Amino acid sequence: MTVPGAEQLLNLWERHHAAHPLRRALALLEAAWPQADALAWAQVPVGVRDAWLLRLFEELFGPQLRTVADCPRCGERLEADFLAADIRSREPAPPAQPLHWQGAGCSAAYRLPTTEDLLQAAAAGADAKRALLRRCIVQARQGRRTIAPEALPDDAAAGIADAMAAADPDADVRLGLSCPACGHAWRLGFDIVAYFWGELSDWARRTLAEVDRLARAYGWSEQEILRLSPTRRQLYLELLRA
Ligand SMILES: [Zn+2]
Repeated sequence: MTVPGAEQLLNLWERHHAAHPLRRALALLEAAWPQADALAWAQVPVGVRDAWLLRLFEELFGPQLRTVADCPRCGERLEADFLAADIRSREPAPPAQPLHWQGAGCSAAYRLPTTEDLLQAAAAGADAKRALLRRCIVQARQGRRTIAPEALPDDAAAGIADAMAAADPDADVRLGLSCPACGHAWRLGFDIVAYFWGELSDWARRTLAEVDRLARAYGWSEQEILRLSPTRRQLYLELLRA
């Protein structure tokens, strides 16, 4: 892993400010593992992608993550802290593909959805779920007859979607929460792509505010300030406050 420095991260953040969230995730991965470009990262199963993103997140911002949620029963707002290690289910390696599913008088060979699949399916609009299945089912049979993936009956399609999710557990991370006010317990989805970008944006704004303060006080350029180590930057900021 090549941990991107402050300058590179700020550039990435600025360039992808208005980009699709999935494109942002690919850009972050490409920055940390440049031996695979964004195109190659787009072909990796979603759960594997997210496991690598989590590793990069930990390297940049530490192992602690925090989520804020409203209790669905009483509306109480609660903050839950958890560790990256708590949501990492396994080493990020894809299972052997294609995978096989059988049920409802049908069988199918399928592969796990990738970022590229999600982007293409999202472009299909309301029919995104079906579009995703169409892309990921390599072969479908009803009885002995080979059929087009879109011809699979609804219960078979739903069964394959469930099997896909189970085969790529890091793609759908759920946090167990319980409300301190009413005791209600539920599971909340956690999206590392959105979370990572939120933390990166907070960091970018904080960092630019620090650049502003140091540039005003010492007359250094943005580049000079960003090339200071975080420790040294903090020391100068402390001196300014003293
Ligand atoms: Zn509650």
